[in-house]
Formats: sequence, structure tokens, C-alpha cells
Amino acid sequence: MALIVQKFGGTSVGSAERIRNVAARILATQQEGHQVVAVVSAMGGVTNRLVELAHEVSSHPLEKEMDVLLSTGEQQTIALTSMAIAALGGQAVSYTGRQAGILTTSAHTRARIEDIDGSAVQSELEAGKIVILAGFQGLDREGRITTLGRGGSDLTAIAMAAALQADRCQIFTDVEGVFTCDPRLVKDARKLDEIAYDEMLEMASSGTKVMQSRSVEFAQKYGVPFEVRSSLADRPGTLVTEEHPNMEQVVIRGISIEKDQANVVIREVPDTPGSAGSIFRALAEADVNVDMIIQNVSNVGKARISFTLPQNDLERAREVMAPLLENQLQGAHLEAELGIAKLSAVGIGMRSHSGVAAKMFGALSDAGINIQMISTSEIKIAVIVNQARIEEAAHVVHQAFDLHKEPA
Ligand code: ADP
Ligand code: ASP
Ligand code: MG
Repeated sequence: MALIVQKFGGTSVGSAERIRNVAARILATQQEGHQVVAVVSAMGGVTNRLVELAHEVSSHPLEKEMDVLLSTGEQQTIALTSMAIAALGGQAVSYTGRQAGILTTSAHTRARIEDIDGSAVQSELEAGKIVILAGFQGLDREGRITTLGRGGSDLTAIAMAAALQADRCQIFTDVEGVFTCDPRLVKDARKLDEIAYDEMLEMASSGTKVMQSRSVEFAQKYGVPFEVRSSLADRPGTLVTEEHPNMEQVVIRGISIEKDQANVVIREVPDTPGSAGSIFRALAEADVNVDMIIQNVSNVGKARISFTLPQNDLERAREVMAPLLENQLQGAHLEAELGIAKLSAVGIGMRSHSGVAAKMFGALSDAGINIQMISTSEIKIAVIVNQARIEEAAHVVHQAFDLHKEPA
């Protein structure tokens, strides 16, 4: 007998029929002789609709209340899934995050899990029940409901698997696993059999939304291997796990795309110690997530600082920068460029192979795609290009590295 944590995302539970299908799958797992905890998301589209509703009643919805609101999406699904299992003759019990002992920080809408007391869930399993657990939510020390950031049901599943020392953690979704690029954008993207935590983490944090990046970070930290697979088909998916030496033979594991980025250029910044510090401190305090940064210094004591950020954060960045431009950075001015996107190529094989950047830039240049900014890390090369050409860019880089072919 194994203890298995399964997670079903929004599309997988997106209709009554899909919930019945998920219920049957969960029950079948138990009937194979296993204990099952199934983490479910809100039905597809529900969380977005609740977010829209909140913005219709308030231009700045209170984050505490946002969490109370958004957590109801998952609460609907746990009840429906438990009912569907009962209708099939199984015994399931629904658990909210609070009932499952998921204690989080108080950072509403993006809380972190601090501790899980899995004893209640454990006793249900020992009594032969299937536990249907609401993803994406927990409780802080003040007893208030919190949520774990968009896509946070992935984190619930992985953290629960760690807390219960589960034998297996399976993330069921609407594609067959982790692909070399988003299969909806690059038609010949290939499903990976396995991928290292570091690669999955880099991909997730650069736009591959099949896994929430914080959940991958958690899995790596606590050593929870997990499988991403389809809730609609019954085929093996992708194992996300510790890296092993063979993995380095593949130079690029996958490509991520992040659309709707903006580039902010601040010109005439005094080239003195502290200028950059003041800009990025102010942005950090306002929780603006800055990505690539470039500074060019001219010979007249002025610098030009550019950085990219999600387009949604641009207004906040402008508000934060306004007082700085009037005081410390007097004389500097800010311009923003929209319509750009980021393409990242990720692979631990980069550590031991050279010429990766040259090949990537060459492929883009052959296609006549201009690179506006570049950034690199040990296992990632990222470029900013015009959004209108991002899909083509992904395609040519995918081809250049033969990602559509099974590696030799
Ligand atoms: P869920 O609702 O199950 O959590 P998500 O919508 O969060 O599912 O994630 C699944 C989606 O991620 C897929 O439908 C796919 O379009 C997208 N995706 C982006 N990049 C990739 C990739 N490299 N491999 C697989 N899926 C990807
Ligand atoms: N329902 C939440 C969201 O849409 C959490 C999740 O699905 O993982 O972001
Ligand atoms: Mg998701």
C-alpha cells in the first residue's frame, strides 16, 4: 500500500462530467490498494471570475477579503468531488486548508506555508477514507484564511506530500506532462520523460505555467519528486526530480515564453553612488518584480538605466518612481515601452557545453528577429524580443536545438 497525493487542476475539474471522471480516477487509485489524498483546484475560470467581481466592487480590493473570496472556489470543488466519489460508492471526506492544518504566513494573496499538521488527514486515511483537499489555501496565526498565489494548488499538493511523507505525488493537468515548450504555441514540442528540479524551477519562473514556481522550489527543498501527467489520458507523464549525470548531456531542456512585459528606460540618471540603489529599493518596497536590468554610463556623468517588468506592474512602478524623479534623481526622466516578450532557453547541460548563446542568437538573427536585451544565468539564457514575433522566436530556437527530436 502506498500513500499517493494527486492534484487536479482547474480544467481537469472544469465541469460536472470532468469531476465525475476525476472522482473515478481517484477511487480507482484507492481500489488498487492505496491511500489517496486528492488536492483540487477551483473549476476552470472560477478564480478569474471572482477576481473580476472583486474589482467591480472596489478598485483596490482588500487582500484579506480577497483570500476569503478566492478560497471559496476550491471549497466548491472539494464538496462536488466528494459527492461524486460517494455516488460511485466510495468514501471520501472534504477538507479545507484550515481543516487540514495548513499554517501559513499572513502575506495575503501570496502566503507561504510555514507548517502542516497532517494528523487529521492521516487519521481519515487510516480509517479508509479518501481525503479531498482544497488547494491554494491555508490559515495564518491569527486564524484568517490565506491563499498561496495563483497556481497555488500545486504547492498544496507538494507540501502535503512532504508533510505526510507520501510515496508518490502526481500533478494531473490538461497536457500530458512538461513539454520542451508550451505545446499550445509550438506544435512539435515534445513531452519530456524527466526534468531536473533546477530546470523546472527556471522554466516555471520564466513563464512555463504548467507548475507554480514556488511549488517547485518547495519540492526541491524538501526532496519531493513529482510527476506531471494528464487527467484525460492514462499515460506516464514527466518526472520532476533530482538531477543525475545523464541529464547534462542535453544542452537545452526547454524553452519558456513570458508575454506582456514592459521595458522602462530612465535617462539622465546622476552617475553617483546610490542612484541605482534608490530606484530598485523603491520598486522592491512596492513589491514590483523587476527582471532584466541594464545600466549604460555616458561620459558626462549621467547614466541610463533600463529594466523589464510585467506590464501589469508598470503603473505601480511609475507611481513609485514619480517622487524619486522629483527629488534624488532630479533631471532624470522615464519612458516605457510595451509590447515586448521574453524567451528563455533552460538546461543544466549549459554548464558543460559552450556555444549555446551563439547558436540561440544565430537562430534568431537568421529569422530576422531583433534581440533587445539579454540576460544569462548558469542554466538559462533569456532574451527580450518584440512580442509580435515571440512565437516565431520560440519556434526557431526550438528547431535550432533539435528539441522536436528525441535526444540520441
Ligand atoms: P492546471 O489548471 O492543471 O493547474 P495550468 O493551466 O496551470 O493547469 O497549466 C497547464 C498549462 O500549461 C497547459 O495547458 C499548457 O498550455 C501550459 N504550458 C506552458 N508551458 C508548458 C510546457 N512547457 N509544458 C506543458 N505545458 C505548458
Ligand atoms: N484556483 C487557483 C488559481 O486559479 C489556484 C490553482 O488553480 O492552482 O490560481
Ligand atoms: Mg496550474
